[in-house]
Amino acid sequence: MTDHHISDRRPSDGPTAGRSGIRFDRVSVAYGGNTVLDSLDLTVEPGEVMALLGPSGSGKTTALRAVAGFVKPAAGRVFIGERDVTDLPPHRRGIGMVVQQYALFPHMRVEDNVAFGMKAQKVTKSEIPARVAEALELTGMTAYAKRYPRELSGGQQQRVAIARALAIRPGVLLLDEPLSALDAQLRSGMLAELARLHRDLPDVSLLYVTHDQVEALTLADRIAVMDKARLQDVGTPQDLYRRPRTEFTASFVGNANLLPVTVGSGSVSFGQAELKVPTQDVAAGVTATLCVRPHLVGLGDGPNALTGEVAEVQWRGATHRLYVDVDGHRVKADLRELRQPPALGERVTVHFAPEDAVLLAAGVSAGDPAQVPARVAAGVRKDG
Ligand code: ADP
Repeated sequence: MTDHHISDRRPSDGPTAGRSGIRFDRVSVAYGGNTVLDSLDLTVEPGEVMALLGPSGSGKTTALRAVAGFVKPAAGRVFIGERDVTDLPPHRRGIGMVVQQYALFPHMRVEDNVAFGMKAQKVTKSEIPARVAEALELTGMTAYAKRYPRELSGGQQQRVAIARALAIRPGVLLLDEPLSALDAQLRSGMLAELARLHRDLPDVSLLYVTHDQVEALTLADRIAVMDKARLQDVGTPQDLYRRPRTEFTASFVGNANLLPVTVGSGSVSFGQAELKVPTQDVAAGVTATLCVRPHLVGLGDGPNALTGEVAEVQWRGATHRLYVDVDGHRVKADLRELRQPPALGERVTVHFAPEDAVLLAAGVSAGDPAQVPARVAAGVRKDG
């Protein structure tokens, strides 16, 4: 699954003039001979919000730090706008950066924290108060200018960190898991805040590192999916969700049934069943993986019917999640809350429409879908 090279190369004379986007041109980073970022090709258009999504250790932060100038690539070039910044020090790159732990100076008032970054940026002294006021206004923190960080909540501290990053008027804003330290409720509020902030600053490009698919799906114009030091997939949230190219994307972005099948012409066989699905460019005779989202699986007879035994029923409020064992494979179905859910062990039929299935050319790598929980244990986040 990792022998392909996903590339998001754009022509260098593209629309990046003026407003600044970010371009990774075959960027590799290694620590002690260990490649942790492998030939990354990725373009963030000016004003675009790009999420770097992937499990822990996949190289996301390393990619971000290569843009910021805190790690030196072993190979490749980094561009901000038209400028090759690969050899520039961080303070000359015109970037703002926000990290998980805020990194505010505890002995400085909010306004001084926000002013701090500008001193290295050659902003004239007389201009600093106006810039501080503007940044605090943008983040809704004007009333807290005289406070110390310890007098603020976690969410407020993170706003100050964002204000500090914005005060230098960066062309690109780098965010590294900025919401991870906040509790769930604050997080969704801050997510809405970040979206609003970006509407107020539509020219600023955002590169947003997260392992949380909800954050990526909510905020990003496009998502770059990373795994094992490599870019696995890149596309709009809708693209990746509806037309994933790899099993990894299918299981990491949303929830998926990944069924091992043998490809025929215009159909595939799964156990005893013959399923009608679009087979387009996948050669007949090979084994492949069929991806079907659980919420697109229906209960009862229909096209592409599969009959099996109910292994598990979970009530989730608005929905029921059914696990049905079909020929030794566990099929998940998310159904609107059932009046009379089936009993454990009951034989039921589930089905899905041909157009709701996506055939993935690579074979199932980690055994059958029943082994998917092992991937959860390995740190792959599932939404259900
Ligand atoms: P992610 O942000 O996706 O969690 P990182 O980019 O932080 O991943 O890390 C990628 C890999 O590089 C990990 O295996 C990590 O242990 C390793 N790594 C990161 N920073 C260093 C460092 N300074 N020295 C050695 N190894 C590092």
